[in-house]
Amino acid sequence: MKFEIIGSGGCVALPKPLCNCKVCQEAREKGRPYSRYGCSLFLHDINLLIDTPEDIVHAINDSSIQNIDAVMFSHLDPDHTLGFRVFEDLRLSWLKVSEGKECNNPIDVIAMPHVMEDLNAIQSSYGSFLDYYENAQNLIKRHKISDYQKIEEIKISFIRVERTTIFVFEAEDKKLIYAPCDVKPFPDEEIFVGADVMIIGNTIIGEELKDGYKLSEDNFLREELFSMSEVLSLKEKFEIKRVIVTHIEEAWGKSYDDYVNLEEQYDGVQFAYDGMEILI
Ligand SMILES: [Zn+2]
Ligand SMILES: [Zn+2]
Repeated sequence: MKFEIIGSGGCVALPKPLCNCKVCQEAREKGRPYSRYGCSLFLHDINLLIDTPEDIVHAINDSSIQNIDAVMFSHLDPDHTLGFRVFEDLRLSWLKVSEGKECNNPIDVIAMPHVMEDLNAIQSSYGSFLDYYENAQNLIKRHKISDYQKIEEIKISFIRVERTTIFVFEAEDKKLIYAPCDVKPFPDEEIFVGADVMIIGNTIIGEELKDGYKLSEDNFLREELFSMSEVLSLKEKFEIKRVIVTHIEEAWGKSYDDYVNLEEQYDGVQFAYDGMEILI
């Protein structure tokens, strides 16, 4: 399987608009891998995109993606969904519409039932956006999956964590876990054991954050996000060979070079960057 990190960023863009911190200035000057689009992943074997942050149009243009056949959603949060108007960029042709022709190759939109319910609820006074894309424009076709889905030779399992989802991709004897956001507490499931790669988000990286900020012991972010030592415990517990930390926040105050240096401290842990390829 060939995966590509389309966006390794967190909830806040990097460079953060109008921010003049060193990390944002460098990202603005040098671009990738110093800049980070919102969090998303692509599986080339089956042209599958996972999540659509607001900047996904630009992220796709800067990636090596050639075609998109399906889009899967992990959860409702805006930093993973509010770019879904990309369905129009990808499939809408106003010239064909002007001749009365509709889209004839809708994108498969795949999510767990609770996530689809949340996505369907994103609406204006005209109604649900996804209803419009499917029923009025035929740009998408929705599929609710509760347990697993096979696409060609790849099995994708869906593990629910409250309002969100962890995905496990399996092909032949290879396995990759994608747990981008809001997956704490991490469920205790047999399927995670022995994975070749786990890509995990929502991790606080380092004790010293942007502008020297130090989290107090009772800061609520410690409840919501994993510390690096918790990530290492998951790696050990599930005997995962390689961990890639994604969903990297601007607020952690670190540049691409800092993450490269940090990798030396951890065995089998890497930090994602936009354009990173993962071949297993
Ligand atoms: Zn900044
Ligand atoms: Zn997120």
